[in-house]
Amino acid sequence: MSKVVTRFAPSPTGHLHIGGARTAIFCWLLARHFGGEFRLRIEDTDLLRSKQEYTDSILASMRWLGLDWDGEPTYQTQRTDVYNKYVDRLLETGHAYWCSCTPEEVEAMREQARARGRKPRYDGRCRTRDVGPGEGHCVRLKAPVTGKVVFDDLVKGPIAVDVSELDDMVLRRSDGMPTYNMAVVVDDYEMGVTHVLRGDDHVSNTPKQILIYEALGLPLPRFGHVPMILGPDRQKLSKRHGARAVIEYEQDGLLPQALVNYLVRLGWSHGDQEIFAPDELVALFDGAGLNAAPAAFDPDKLQWLNAHYMRSMPPTELAALALPFVRREGFADVAPERVERLASLFRERANNLVELAQAMRTLLTPAETLEYDAAAVARALPADGEGRKHVAALAELFAAAKTFDAPALEKILHDYVERNNLKFKQVGPPLRVALLGYMGGPHLPEVMDVLGREATLERLRRAVAL
Ligand code: GLU
Repeated sequence: MSKVVTRFAPSPTGHLHIGGARTAIFCWLLARHFGGEFRLRIEDTDLLRSKQEYTDSILASMRWLGLDWDGEPTYQTQRTDVYNKYVDRLLETGHAYWCSCTPEEVEAMREQARARGRKPRYDGRCRTRDVGPGEGHCVRLKAPVTGKVVFDDLVKGPIAVDVSELDDMVLRRSDGMPTYNMAVVVDDYEMGVTHVLRGDDHVSNTPKQILIYEALGLPLPRFGHVPMILGPDRQKLSKRHGARAVIEYEQDGLLPQALVNYLVRLGWSHGDQEIFAPDELVALFDGAGLNAAPAAFDPDKLQWLNAHYMRSMPPTELAALALPFVRREGFADVAPERVERLASLFRERANNLVELAQAMRTLLTPAETLEYDAAAVARALPADGEGRKHVAALAELFAAAKTFDAPALEKILHDYVERNNLKFKQVGPPLRVALLGYMGGPHLPEVMDVLGREATLERLRRAVAL
């Protein structure tokens, strides 16, 4: 097989959404699996809606997802002359012709066809008129009048469209600009694209593009159209249900590997396997196994996968990802090493980086501003209650500890319970509320170890005096 070349061709009219991201991931995986190339093309010909900031944002999201592309991105607005060269070639070979029909005339033809119950289309009247270039003239494809356009879609299987469904489409508008389908065919050919994978909102463009390839005498790439992502209610995916930009997921504390894994599974399967390391995806994804039926977005599963990745990644890596979120919580000067320790302590209890950073709050806050949950205090640390006495006694023992680390503190706590013939539940909850302000959270000796002696004692003293 010749080298596999895929491409992702976003229009910079908005941020990268999860549907587009999934397409990009599939294209990237296919190229990487076969050791080929993954190219990027910015389809910026809609001058009114395209913005540089969206191009920048799309590229940033792709980098965040780990989708590296080969070579420089191609910008369609820089290639008008190239497209027109191909239009000229079609004119020279008799596969295209000039048309002087006004928009009103074309509309009238369509109206007539509709009135006769036919598909609205241009009737080809300029084919034989020998029009030539001129003010207000466009160039049209001389499409075949009988037959079918047939292709074997990588996802949907064989597709056949009768040419009577198509018409002599415009290739170059009267303002001299090439049309969308013309540009895409020229680009895909010149970029050497062998596999066009895209959303199935483009499936109706494919027969038109095939007619252009054929008129130009160019080899066809393979086409594959992936179905759209549905909401959990199996309706069109709404904003509320997850139709959001990749950058919003990033801000919500999702990990890129979790989003990639989730999106790939949403439209592709390999048996029942749910979790795939990036390398594993590259090794397994060969373009087969893409589902023709649309998949429904499941936000809980995405969080579940995210939690899985948070728990299994090296702590240093997790800490690096969590650091900006911790800073955003108001701890601008926090040291990365501290975040690493806290991340290890809290990651079992957080589904995403926002929850992780929020969980760290209680340990990063100075003792004097720690917030106590009133109900927890009333239950575990009532004034003049036994709980406060234990906390005060333990504070003395911790203050005198030779080494202040988790194993030493664990032993002190254990000995205190034994020596005084107590049950752990008489001591644990008061100590927990005193240290953290609430019930719940990680193992207490670890908590104190991370806090250090000073901060631990400050908290215990403050709690006793509440
Ligand atoms: N620019 C198109 C889009 O964003 C993609 C077209 C294609 O992949 O051929 O939907």
